[in-house]
Amino acid sequence: MLDPVNILLVTVLSSIMSLAILGSLRPAGIPGVGRWIGAYLMASIAILLAGMQRLGLPILTVFVSNTLLALAVVCILEGCREFFGLKPRVPLAYAGTVALATGIVWWYWVAPSLGARVAVVSAFHAAIYASIGWLAWRCRPPARPVYSYRFVTLAAWLGAFAHALRGVMYGSGFVKQYGLLDSTPLNVAWLALGILVLPALSIGMVLLAHDRMAERLERLANQDELTGALTRRAFLAQASASLEAARGKGQRVAFAIVDIDHFKSINDRYGHAAGDRVLAQFCRVVKGGVRAGDVFGRLGGEEFALLFVGMTRDEVVTRLDELRVLTLSVRRSADTPAGESGEEAHDGLTFSAGVDELQAQDSLVTLMARADAALYVAKSRGRDRVVAI
Ligand code: GH3
Ligand code: MG
Ligand code: MG
Repeated sequence: MLDPVNILLVTVLSSIMSLAILGSLRPAGIPGVGRWIGAYLMASIAILLAGMQRLGLPILTVFVSNTLLALAVVCILEGCREFFGLKPRVPLAYAGTVALATGIVWWYWVAPSLGARVAVVSAFHAAIYASIGWLAWRCRPPARPVYSYRFVTLAAWLGAFAHALRGVMYGSGFVKQYGLLDSTPLNVAWLALGILVLPALSIGMVLLAHDRMAERLERLANQDELTGALTRRAFLAQASASLEAARGKGQRVAFAIVDIDHFKSINDRYGHAAGDRVLAQFCRVVKGGVRAGDVFGRLGGEEFALLFVGMTRDEVVTRLDELRVLTLSVRRSADTPAGESGEEAHDGLTFSAGVDELQAQDSLVTLMARADAALYVAKSRGRDRVVAI
């Protein structure tokens, strides 16, 4: 029969390996990783102490070891809460840790009962693991792949189930146990199931951290940092997909290219940083003036594109004319630093736009080319206008 001490030693070794992997993720600044590292450090020490129970020293190998392991799983829970953007501290979990420590003192020294001790420790671990699983189940950011989140939930709920069952069986006296490190098959199975959740969870934590890094990279690749609009590449991909989907449903699609007028003069007069602020503010106004489902991207410099599904060419011309009124105020608010007022700063910001609608034989490229030609006409007719040809 496998000696429980060996199981504990394997868990210590795997916790140390988890520490090494989690440590490598620390420089990425992912919320929660610091707490997870602390948790696995505590867990390694706690399990090592538990494995030394046959040497005696119950204060260390029973009391400190159990309390430290309880704090370690609380720390995992707090790391998960931090990872998901929640307030990390859980006062109830600390109250539970104090209750657990008190229970251990009572049922070890005052009224010795191994069954009661196992029951209280198992109930505590089951509750914390159930909360971790629930967090990963509920807080997955929308549109992220489910794998890593479901992995954490599964590992945590398996742990919760094993601990709960162990607590009920030993606590009710259904199974008699004489020592925590008994080599009975049932004890070995419970110990293995209960304690091997820690390495499984650490794999889950690493998967979560990787998903967060992938999300960051995707955002950097798809979203223009200055304006928050889609990057050219992401815009073309999304616009193409929306266009084909709309064509499949027989919906109308209109397309607009927007170019800010005389933008170079803003840079020349107020500096590049002011130009940047104007661009950012301009995009906030445009985003606020179109529907959430409209595809909005920065083609480059001060040139933007918009794809509207379910709108006609004339409706889009009207929408853009409304936007022209809204964006007039941008230059004033964005290029005058607080406390300063400049005469020239009160000129309004204008843009020119070319609009066209999808025809049966069109691709995104041909539709864009016609909108671009319309923009050229708008510029040549004196700017500050929307043209559909
Ligand atoms: P037009 O009315 O003909 O469009 O004139 P324009 O000045 O807007 O156009 P032009 O193409 O001559 O100049 C565009 C300017 O936009 C030049 C470039 O320095 C500036 N620009 C492009 N990208 C950025 C940016 O990210 N930040 C800032 N501040 N300026 C930018
Ligand atoms: Mg321009
Ligand atoms: Mg331009």
